[in-house]
Amino acid sequence: MDKKQTLKHYFGYDDFRDLQEEAIDTIVSKRDMLMILPTGGGKSLCYQLPTLMMEGVTVVVSPLLSLMYDQVTSLQANGIEAAMVSSMQSFEEIKSIEQQVIRGEIKMLYVAPERMDSSYFISLLHRAKINFFVIDEAHCLSQWGHEFRQSYRKLSILKEQFPRIPIAAFTATATQMVRADIINELRLDKPNIIVGSIFRSNLFITIKHRIGDGKAQLLEFLKLYKGQSGIIYTLSRKSTESVAAYLSQKGYKARAYHAGLSNEERGRIHNEFIQDRLDMVVATVAFGMGIDKPNIRFVVHLHLPRNLESYYQEIGRAGRDGNLSQTLLLFTTADLIQQRLFIDDLEAGEYKRNAYAKLQSISTFATSTSCRHQSISHYFKESLVPCMERCDNCLSYKNQTIDITTPAQKILSAIYRTKQSFGANYVVDILKGSKSKKIVQNAHDKLSVYDIGKEYSKSGWLTIVDKLLEFGAVAINDKRVYILTEMGKKILQGKQSVAIDEERLKVTFETQVVDDNGVFEEDTQRILDRLSKLRNTIATQNSIPAYIVFSQKTLAQMAMELPTTKEAMLNIHGVGEVKYERYGEAFIEEIRAIKNAKGIVGSG
Ligand code: ADP
Repeated sequence: MDKKQTLKHYFGYDDFRDLQEEAIDTIVSKRDMLMILPTGGGKSLCYQLPTLMMEGVTVVVSPLLSLMYDQVTSLQANGIEAAMVSSMQSFEEIKSIEQQVIRGEIKMLYVAPERMDSSYFISLLHRAKINFFVIDEAHCLSQWGHEFRQSYRKLSILKEQFPRIPIAAFTATATQMVRADIINELRLDKPNIIVGSIFRSNLFITIKHRIGDGKAQLLEFLKLYKGQSGIIYTLSRKSTESVAAYLSQKGYKARAYHAGLSNEERGRIHNEFIQDRLDMVVATVAFGMGIDKPNIRFVVHLHLPRNLESYYQEIGRAGRDGNLSQTLLLFTTADLIQQRLFIDDLEAGEYKRNAYAKLQSISTFATSTSCRHQSISHYFKESLVPCMERCDNCLSYKNQTIDITTPAQKILSAIYRTKQSFGANYVVDILKGSKSKKIVQNAHDKLSVYDIGKEYSKSGWLTIVDKLLEFGAVAINDKRVYILTEMGKKILQGKQSVAIDEERLKVTFETQVVDDNGVFEEDTQRILDRLSKLRNTIATQNSIPAYIVFSQKTLAQMAMELPTTKEAMLNIHGVGEVKYERYGEAFIEEIRAIKNAKGIVGSG
């Protein structure tokens, strides 16, 4: 099989992504390589595919057990012989895997960097036929990186012991210093350095001033994400717990995650999240590396991160599957002061000076009005034209503004008539003519402003409230209710007008179920729900995460194309031979049942 056939057969994809082919060719030609590609760029495939075209086993060094476990499960689901050795396995289990490695029955072997410390393990590797080594998350060996790991420093042993076996190193971190460190530490020999673009076009970046602790804004944002996966970063253990408790109380499946929890507890949360049994994790930075979950739809920061490297890495955990995903950063100047205090505690020296400079950069970034993606690219010494559609700044620059004085007056009037004692949701519910118990009890359905808000959806009205807050027409007092300011009174009296970016009313936190190609019809959405249910059942039966069965994108395409033959099924993105054999029939059966019920005739 050639490259393309291997891609289709094992992974079910039709085409390579940018730079994947170059990486694969480099590995097959036995040259050292360093690949820098943003998260979600498709690095894994670059080393998983060549090993299938070469003799021997590939040894992959990976920093986290969970990461290895996910990869091994996913490879096995594609019919590729993969295994891992870790401290979690029994002696017998490890022995048996070692035997398989020596007999050449394993194509991919995942190990932790610590394993390279063991002379027993090194001698085992000498007895195996290794085609190439892979160093995943290679930035962990740089002290300039933000996830330095002592154990990664041991990896220089690879070139000492196996000078003729090529090494392929992978990372998403792009700074020059980290790059140089990786090459030096691993002693790479004239490596082919492949650098992908920093730009993640499926991430929408929004940055706003935080109001209070940000919980109200968070809730507002999350309205569109019930049942979807996301990560919320906060600064302290205490705040992870309070935010998680708040979200649980509001009906979200959220858990706190921080370094103070036991290993077991953290492992449990990680697994529940990966398996879609838990929707949101509220975490300190302790959570993240090794989160290889493709369907994370949003990442929220409730504070200013300490530098753009961490920020970029953290938002990068969203949208690995390539579907549109949202990132929201809420900050105030107080964050800057707090982050500075952390740095003040560091030992004086270059690292400390750097940390201050980095903090300054992210603070400038957060308050800037330039394209967010362009600013990030510039920071990493790359050039990019403004994204025009994937960040708040570009949208507000590009778009026409429309006058919203009249709707603003409706809101302000409703706030005034309810005696400035309620939150935005309640006030908007009055405008929308809600029959909620509270509104009826308060006799607010008798107000002149009741049910006069037909022109916008609820979220549209809330966007206008946001705008009024930014504009300074309303404020939130310490009881968390909306009150009118002098500016608000002027608008109400018709002495001041207010406008908003037209697009903002339409696209604030817009979600798309599938991808950029089209929004789903309601019918298709129902079919997708049925297919997802089947996927979950299969996943539970086999004790694997749902996305390992099929990705969301695969299901979405099935829901649209409704394939009922093997051939049509194999044409679906992400369905390879092995997956077809395992799950194809079950899905075809389900699709047939759907078609029969709907009276659709014909096949294909
Ligand atoms: P990275 O390791 O660079 O963060 P991954 O290797 O996890 O990225 O890949 C991200 C997602 O993209 C995965 O769901 C993977 O299956 C998918 N993917 C990778 N290569 C391709 C391809 N050529 N066509 C379609 N999807 C791909």
